[in-house]
Amino acid sequence: MAKKKTGSKKPASTSHEFQAETAKLLHLMVHSVYSEREVFLRELISNAADACDKLRYEAIQKPELLDGDADLGIGIIIDEKAKTLAIGDNGIGMDHDELVENLGTIARSGTQAFMEKAKGDKDDVNLIGQFGIGFYSAFMVAEKVEVISRKAGDDKTWKWVSEGGDKYTIEQASKDEERARGTEIILHLREDAEEFLDDSRISSIVKTYSDHVAHPITLAGDEPRQLNAGSAIWTRPKSEISDEQYKEFFGSVSGVYSDPALTLHYKAEGLNEYTVLLFVPDEPPFDLFDPERRGRQKLYVRRVFITDDAQLLPAWLRFVRGVIDSEDMPLNISREMLQDNPTVAKIRKAVTSKVLSELKKCAEKDADKYAKIWDAFGAVLKEGIYEDMARRDDLFELARFKTVNSGDKKISLKDYVAAMKKNQTAIYYVTGESAEKIAKSPQLEGYKARGLDVLLLSDPIDSFWVRTALGYDGKPFTSVTQGAADLDNIEIEKSDDDKKSEASEDELAILITAMQEELKDDIKEVRKSTRLTDSPVCIVADDGGLDRNLEKLLAQQNAHSVSVSPPILEINAANPLIKALAGMAKKDKSSIKDAARLLLDQAIILEGERPSDPVAFAGRMSEVMAKVFAG
Ligand code: ADP
Repeated sequence: MAKKKTGSKKPASTSHEFQAETAKLLHLMVHSVYSEREVFLRELISNAADACDKLRYEAIQKPELLDGDADLGIGIIIDEKAKTLAIGDNGIGMDHDELVENLGTIARSGTQAFMEKAKGDKDDVNLIGQFGIGFYSAFMVAEKVEVISRKAGDDKTWKWVSEGGDKYTIEQASKDEERARGTEIILHLREDAEEFLDDSRISSIVKTYSDHVAHPITLAGDEPRQLNAGSAIWTRPKSEISDEQYKEFFGSVSGVYSDPALTLHYKAEGLNEYTVLLFVPDEPPFDLFDPERRGRQKLYVRRVFITDDAQLLPAWLRFVRGVIDSEDMPLNISREMLQDNPTVAKIRKAVTSKVLSELKKCAEKDADKYAKIWDAFGAVLKEGIYEDMARRDDLFELARFKTVNSGDKKISLKDYVAAMKKNQTAIYYVTGESAEKIAKSPQLEGYKARGLDVLLLSDPIDSFWVRTALGYDGKPFTSVTQGAADLDNIEIEKSDDDKKSEASEDELAILITAMQEELKDDIKEVRKSTRLTDSPVCIVADDGGLDRNLEKLLAQQNAHSVSVSPPILEINAANPLIKALAGMAKKDKSSIKDAARLLLDQAIILEGERPSDPVAFAGRMSEVMAKVFAG
């Protein structure tokens, strides 16, 4: 409905519906039973601080936005009579459309993930910050929320109101509600939330959760009081910062309110001067494998927040969170220019080295802690092995692998090489979806019999880096499911007294020809295996081609027009079934046709794939069973 210009002092209010997702989230907040609901204050203060940061940044180009008021800060007002708690800031503010956009819809993908993870119990509270839905947490304590806001440089103040249902309203604020600039959030507290009218409670919450906020947070009253230290935490001397304060700041930059695994706080001096306060979390965030692979390290220039999108670290260190504050970059640097900024490049190089050396130190000093870090972020660090030649050797030192012989632990490549057998010249690996599954691959039998260890690589990135990395310590990485196994020079360890007899060479040759003839459309060739000791058959990839697992990955992603190329079928000449078939083939070549098909399908199933013709497979299987069971 079009609004008529009536000229009345109080402009009409318009009613809007929350986007369905937002309504769902609100419902969750309204009905929450969180015990730590005081975190709403942390979220609102964090938004207010961001609004101040944004204005300070924009004012670099447009100083007039400050309009004579350059002291940015956050104020809290308690009104016991009205039962309201208000959080105000003189930051960037929001206009009408931004109120709709920011408070009526949830654009971030994180919310969907949050809704999926949230179970309505108290653990959800820790998810709130991480998923960037802070504002709505106000509804944990308020039955009605008013947001009064005026955007810097605008002449209108707007008022947004919601009682947490499906709707909210927006209208122009009345004369006495008008603000000079910024936002005020007024919470009409629920009856069960009146504890938040107590100023000592409020000041202790601010101290606990928001002390690190770099803008002053002031509690209004007869004698206004500043509640926080009000200086950027990274500028303070290490000795004056408690573990609790580090932890709280880590929470504010990562959304994870637990202890970080590593804290790096130092000042770099010399050609470039900057302060670093970075954390390695101890658990992965929900969006670690987001295709954008964005890092979230915040760039400040002399305490002014510039951006959290400056690629201060390579993508494979995107899990490292925190702040880098440069002393010598120009303040008026535009975000676009940061991409090829030489200072940023120098900082990235130096800080990357520092992070890697801290990880290495941790690996040496505290293997258990390091194992946790690797479990959380190893798959990301391995991206670096693939794409960052210059860091490959450092990353090889840091990498840990599950292997056939490592049990529950993970070992380093150094450990692997130290345990290599006589005449072993390569580092063996097998790739697949899960370590447990691939550890059972028939292709491993011959390696296991020789006591050879094999890396079990189950991260998708593994298939990529093993192909491009030339090797470690002069030893190439060799797939156990590709090419000829070449194990003849390495002694079998198993005390197999009755050395298994094999089918005779001429019988085997006939069997191989017969199988090849039958299967020629589906495979490249049939050959005798040295990698099998028990199973009758297995599939391997051709020497020159791609690893089968990589082929499958590429085919899935459609990244290249890759089709999985025909494999090689290896047969085990010492297996009783193969021996029997060899005997049969000698008498009548055509008698082994069904068996050949079944064996190939079986090998394909073991690879986690489907037989090419499941109906034919089932038919043959039933026939064989009928022969056995029905005589
Ligand atoms: P997040 O802060 O994670 O983006 P929120 O739901 O807390 O998510 O806030 C949504 C958006 O509303 C913010 O991104 C910001 O644009 C806007 N906003 C919230 N509070 C304020 C404020 N005090 N001043 C200006 N903008 C704000």
